[in-house]
Amino acid sequence: MTAIDDRHLVDVRNVRHFYGTPSGGDLLVLDDVDLTLFDNEIVGLLGRSGSGKSTLLRSIAGLIEPTSGQIRFAAEPETKAPVSVSMVFQSFALFPWLTVLQNVEVGLEAKRVPAETRRKRALAAIDLIGLDGFENAYPKELSGGMRQRVGLARALVVDPTILLMDEPFSALDVLTAETLRTDLLDLWCEGRMKIRSILMVTHNIEEAVLMCDRILVFSSNPGRIVAEIRVDLPQPRNRQDPKFRKMVDDIYVRMTQPAAGAKEGRRDDGLFPGLGIAMVLPRVSTNTLAGLMEAVAADPFKGKADLPELARVLHYEADELFGVAETLQLMRFAELEGGDLRLTPAARGYVEAETDARKQLFAKHLLAYVPLAAHIRHQLTEDEPELSAGGVRETLEETMSPEYAEETLKSVIDWARYAEVFAYDESADLFTLDNPS
Ligand code: ADP
Ligand code: MG
Repeated sequence: MTAIDDRHLVDVRNVRHFYGTPSGGDLLVLDDVDLTLFDNEIVGLLGRSGSGKSTLLRSIAGLIEPTSGQIRFAAEPETKAPVSVSMVFQSFALFPWLTVLQNVEVGLEAKRVPAETRRKRALAAIDLIGLDGFENAYPKELSGGMRQRVGLARALVVDPTILLMDEPFSALDVLTAETLRTDLLDLWCEGRMKIRSILMVTHNIEEAVLMCDRILVFSSNPGRIVAEIRVDLPQPRNRQDPKFRKMVDDIYVRMTQPAAGAKEGRRDDGLFPGLGIAMVLPRVSTNTLAGLMEAVAADPFKGKADLPELARVLHYEADELFGVAETLQLMRFAELEGGDLRLTPAARGYVEAETDARKQLFAKHLLAYVPLAAHIRHQLTEDEPELSAGGVRETLEETMSPEYAEETLKSVIDWARYAEVFAYDESADLFTLDNPS
């Protein structure tokens, strides 16, 4: 290991990562990622679904080996051993057959800590994280928030130098997530955890601004850090503080700007790179899409809305709105620029139309701008009246994980069903032309 500057805890240099695809191809997920984690900071990695955030975090945690590049860790002052990391997962990743106490102790088992010390440390971590009294409960008896507390206790019990968190709050309901965020921030600010730095992945702008000292904005396809934003607001932060709001707005603007390269005529770069059918489609219902178009068309927006303001008026979490806005943009019902969403003439036509005309317009845009929908429809009309969804799923899995492939399929099925472009028979896992209209 090469020595690194003592203020650096971790140095990630030129990291690239490819995933192999079933047909033997390579999917570039991380491209030349550089990142330094310093002492005493919370850093956020902010990016959309599928941009490679988890891949980067897993590389740092040592769970996967990046295809190329280096990840270097500083040495602990006393032991000279490399600094240690622990990770908290979105899905909690608890063992259902173990109690809370046993789940937390698992963290120490690999370290050959004597049983008695193990118990003592596990109880201390459980106490710290607010799980006192639940030592003997099983995960299924706990709420989501409590389960994630177990996940945190298990990560903290080993006294890591660095805590890595992969969307730790996104599986929780809004209130539970907020309580856990504030509890964790309190522990951090009061110095009650031994960790020296936290690196957390999120796709939630507000969460990043609430918690982080520094936010790294990640672009997609391939994942790359495109901006670094310092958040100099003192803790505890107030979401209503105008400075807080401005920060959120500014990040919105940055994230809706087309990526560099889009200006050089590569029209489809930026938010929606020309991936053809291999594009991860956000899970958004047609009702939500219609609702947003109607809201923006109406007063006070009259066709153009500031995204953060729209999120507030419609009571969306800032990041929820992204998926909806992205989908409208993809289908050319809206344009996104500088934090504004502007309806296209097609969207205004949609809002004014009756049910059937709406469906027809939606169908037209779906087939013109969502290559996956066009592909399935084409197969059905030109080839066979039935198409195995399994084959389509496999094709998607060439370029995305099985989870994203499933989400993408679900989205396209919902949209196509509404537009009566094709139907899907769940029991047979088949696409058909036959519309249940
Ligand atoms: P994020 O955490 O930002 O949502 P991920 O790191 O999970 O992104 O995934 C980045 C890209 O890599 C996605 O396109 C995803 O489908 C793909 N991917 C992730 N894991 C695998 C895998 N094990 N095999 C193939 N592709 C994968
Ligand atoms: Mg992820």
